[in-house]
Amino acid sequence: MSVGSRSLENRTFPLIFAAPSGAGKTTIAQRLMERRGDVVFSISMTTRTPRSYEHNGVHYHFVEEDEFRRLADAGELVEWAEVHGNLYGTPARNLTEAIERRQYLILDIDIQGARQIRRAVPEAVSIFVLPPSGVELGQRLAGRGSEDGAVRRRRLDNARAEIQAAGEFDYVIVNGSLDTSVAAVEAILLTEGCRTSRLPGLKQEIGRLDDEIGQCLRGIGSPPSSSSDPQRGT
Ligand code: ADP
Ligand code: 5GP
Repeated sequence: MSVGSRSLENRTFPLIFAAPSGAGKTTIAQRLMERRGDVVFSISMTTRTPRSYEHNGVHYHFVEEDEFRRLADAGELVEWAEVHGNLYGTPARNLTEAIERRQYLILDIDIQGARQIRRAVPEAVSIFVLPPSGVELGQRLAGRGSEDGAVRRRRLDNARAEIQAAGEFDYVIVNGSLDTSVAAVEAILLTEGCRTSRLPGLKQEIGRLDDEIGQCLRGIGSPPSSSSDPQRGT
């Protein structure tokens, strides 16, 4: 008779992705979401102008500065910061909804935001994505074609300060091969999910296993007493 098998469910957690603009964190996040249904992207608020391919409510919630500041003052943003001259923030409900739905929430946020989240949500896991080289970073930014030369220059200039913070993060991924980067994030999700602190059902599971081992032992029966069969080995 089969007794079946169980898995020990872990609590999901937010995954902070930070990187200099153009390193590839959005691309990695998109690949992950294509591969698995339990990963969801945190849609931020921003005062930035939408790019031609961006849609409100899909890539960002695009709002005016007044509205952004009203939401921040009302405590509806778990973190917010000024980045490259625009305001960006994470709606607090993104985190609560992801936990309720047992999803891993990917936060594509800057270093100031990452610091705020790490303080507010200690169970969050943080990953810093580095480009394979400075030249490649410049080429990826240009290749994306979404910013003009002045904006690219500003972002590359900011990148020099941003990479200095990589050591604050739990993990660093050099995004050379996209496949390897995605595999590394999946490995992190798997490993972090095995932490005892993320296993609310561990005690119960150990109790159940203990009962099953007890049943198994009863099935084997009592050991023969040594006097009844003196020839028998151990
Ligand atoms: P970020 O979100 O970090 O600003 P993006 O994900 O928008 O960066 O990536 C910037 C550009 O680099 C995009 O054109 C993307 O297709 C490209 N890119 C991302 N990852 C890789 C990679 N591993 N190899 C080559 N090009 C990449
Ligand atoms: P972009 O304008 O290229 O979409 O994003 C610019 C920068 O803003 C990126 O470094 C991105 O990670 C950051 N960013 C996006 N959303 C948020 C957010 O909600 N909070 C913070 N602090 N930074 C964000």
